[in-house]
Amino acid sequence: MFGLIGHLTSLEHAKSVAKDLGYPEYADQGLDFWCSAPPQIVDHFKVVSATGQTIEGKYVESCFLPEMLANRRIKAATRKILNAMAHAQKNGINITALGGFSSIIFENFKLDQIKRVRNLDLDFKKFTTGNTHTAYIICKQVEAAAPKCGIDLSQSTVAVCGATGDIGSAVCRWLKARSGVKELLLVARNQERLNDLRAELDFGRVLPMDEALPLADVVVWVASLPKGLNVDVNRLKQPCLMVDGGYPKNIDVTFNHPGIHVLKGGIVEHSLDIDWHIMNIVNMDVPGRQLFACFAESMLLEFEKLHTNFSWGRNQITLEKMDLIGEASVRHGFRPLLT
Ligand code: NDP
Repeated sequence: MFGLIGHLTSLEHAKSVAKDLGYPEYADQGLDFWCSAPPQIVDHFKVVSATGQTIEGKYVESCFLPEMLANRRIKAATRKILNAMAHAQKNGINITALGGFSSIIFENFKLDQIKRVRNLDLDFKKFTTGNTHTAYIICKQVEAAAPKCGIDLSQSTVAVCGATGDIGSAVCRWLKARSGVKELLLVARNQERLNDLRAELDFGRVLPMDEALPLADVVVWVASLPKGLNVDVNRLKQPCLMVDGGYPKNIDVTFNHPGIHVLKGGIVEHSLDIDWHIMNIVNMDVPGRQLFACFAESMLLEFEKLHTNFSWGRNQITLEKMDLIGEASVRHGFRPLLT
């Protein structure tokens, strides 16, 4: 059995889908209510691999909302993640992906130091961030979509917003070593971490976002932003490919311009239908087949019987691990979203 710990993108989103999740009494409630709501298993489904193998999974809604961070409800946010992990473990799940902000909260607030949740000792080997597969899929999306937009990666400048993050740093390593991009622009806020990454890569330039965006042929968005940014289209190159891997999305969902191709980053499409409800709720275009790459990682680990925290900690993702999870991804019938 594999598991997925997920959350919704905003209080507004949560209110609008509470009924679909089976909790109509949550629909009119404010942030306080969500802060005290316990985790729930809201979906139970089967997934068939392209090899014919079938596995079972459960989706755990943590009831975390990004507004909890913006409103300094840190204790509630951390409790949501720990309680959801304990709930997954108690329900006999072998390997669970910590989707979206779940792994970010786990890392930022050092939750590895809190192993005990009530009467249960968390076994961290049963969890994965899913970030290795996410980084791999984003890189494959860049490599496949750039030529379609008339962009030759070997001559291109790629800006990575959120470069020092777990996903961002892996993407930078791959774009340098495997995609052979001409120039890499490293964007984040903390200068020390940016300088360390620049030294590790021995490649690229550290630049503030407003200086990097006008220079970029491709922008990879993997910053942990609680809300989408408004990007000034007049300051962007055309054509420009934007691969937005953020959850919630890094760029405002209403952003639309003919010269700028925006691709939903870190999303995979399965070759067979999955009979579940949860991807309707997070607004996938083809909910029976499309899903977050981090969730697919827990499926891949279950298919491969690799019940271990494959992606764990920050900035530990190697090219070898990306190759390994990438091969499993192809074998079991997942492909990067390209439209
Ligand atoms: P990390 O916390 O490891 O990294 C976040 C990065 O964003 C850091 O480089 C951070 O650097 C940067 N950042 C944060 N705020 C800003 C800002 N205001 N301006 C510029 N940079 C900023 O996160 P992950 O790598 O784990 O996740 C990144 C994103 O990917 C998140 O939105 C997450 O929800 C999403 N995600 C998507 C998945 C999928 O399957 N599609 C799976 C997992 C995650 P600094 O603080 O120095 O600015």
